[in-house]
Amino acid sequence: MIIGVPKEIKNHEYRVGMVPASVRELISHGHSVYVETNAGNGIGFSDDDYKAAGASILPTAADVFAKAEMIVKVKEPQAVERAMLREGQILFTYLHLAPDFPQTEDLIKSKAVCIAYETVTDSKGRLPLLAPMSEVAGRMSIQAGAQALEKSHGGSGMLLSGVPGVEPAKIVVLGGGVVGSNAARMAVGLRADVTILDKNVDTLRRLDEEFQGRAKVVYSTEETLEQHVLNADLVIGAVLIPGAAAPKLVNEDHIKRMKPGAAVVDVAIDQGGCFATSHATTHADPTYIVDDVVHYCVANMPGAVARTSTVALNNATLPYIVKLANKGYRDALVEDQHLRNGLNVIHGQVTIKEVAEGFELPY
Ligand code: NAD
Repeated sequence: MIIGVPKEIKNHEYRVGMVPASVRELISHGHSVYVETNAGNGIGFSDDDYKAAGASILPTAADVFAKAEMIVKVKEPQAVERAMLREGQILFTYLHLAPDFPQTEDLIKSKAVCIAYETVTDSKGRLPLLAPMSEVAGRMSIQAGAQALEKSHGGSGMLLSGVPGVEPAKIVVLGGGVVGSNAARMAVGLRADVTILDKNVDTLRRLDEEFQGRAKVVYSTEETLEQHVLNADLVIGAVLIPGAAAPKLVNEDHIKRMKPGAAVVDVAIDQGGCFATSHATTHADPTYIVDDVVHYCVANMPGAVARTSTVALNNATLPYIVKLANKGYRDALVEDQHLRNGLNVIHGQVTIKEVAEGFELPY
């Protein structure tokens, strides 16, 4: 199969659909890969690296779209990219169609085979192509929180780890899933005083087993949440109710009563956030202050560490890319129900019920 990797064109997006190591893997399976010039430049993968892996470099995205039978990207295709898709061409990338009617409409018109990373499942019902970005955001949340606590950012001037003779910061993690457990690992590694709250008792058991007392694991109720949040130096918001907006677990009154100079990192901001006072921010201006509490609410945290994020994403997507290339989309989708769950639009038809219903489209 001929696979194409265009350069991402969204503002400040440095990730890339395939790293040179993934290209090499596809070449070894007998496929051809065409990469747009400078596609990986922003994160240290040069055209020469891609050529050494066996790719051919093309000067424009239009050349890549014209040549490829499958396009592999990171972000949802922008209008100019959607206009280049053609009937039967495979598009494999994050799509997030539910809130995006113009994109849905264009993908229907294109008659392309559009498979979204975020709806591919695994045998345990998890989302294996979303997990790497949650791992990145969870780990990053602690370094974002550490900076927010510095005086220059409006924080209380506390070092997470403390020093000999000085207590460490109290970090409270709301939600112990992929983001929360990765945040807790980093916080424990820094020797902070860590408490994780979750509503799922099995999750609490798993975390208790993992941390062996190095993090406290607490069942989340209004009472335990209030008690821990009011006492915290840093709160990480990492809850998720699949398919729904994040619950506003921390209300305005809690924020008013938190310690002055405390910080909150609302990782769940991409689902609306779990602090009543959160609104989405950008890497250019990531924090703001409400009632003396520093808020960090960047909706695309993994973008800041684009190199790590790209490699982590590729590690997860590569087996599916290889499967689609080796078998063609028909056999690959028929054989693998989890990959089939990733199918969002095919030959002008939406295949995700919620998206079709949301836009009153035939399903
Ligand atoms: P996950 O499903 O692995 O974990 C969510 C956890 O929240 C679960 O353990 C669940 O039991 C818990 N939970 C649900 N309701 C709760 C409640 N009321 N109290 C306490 N715990 C509760 O999800 P995840 O992959 O860890 O993602 C968490 C959030 O982070 C999602 O909103 C996701 O979209 C977001 N995210 C944001 C970024 C970013 O850049 N900002 C990046 C990746 C993920």
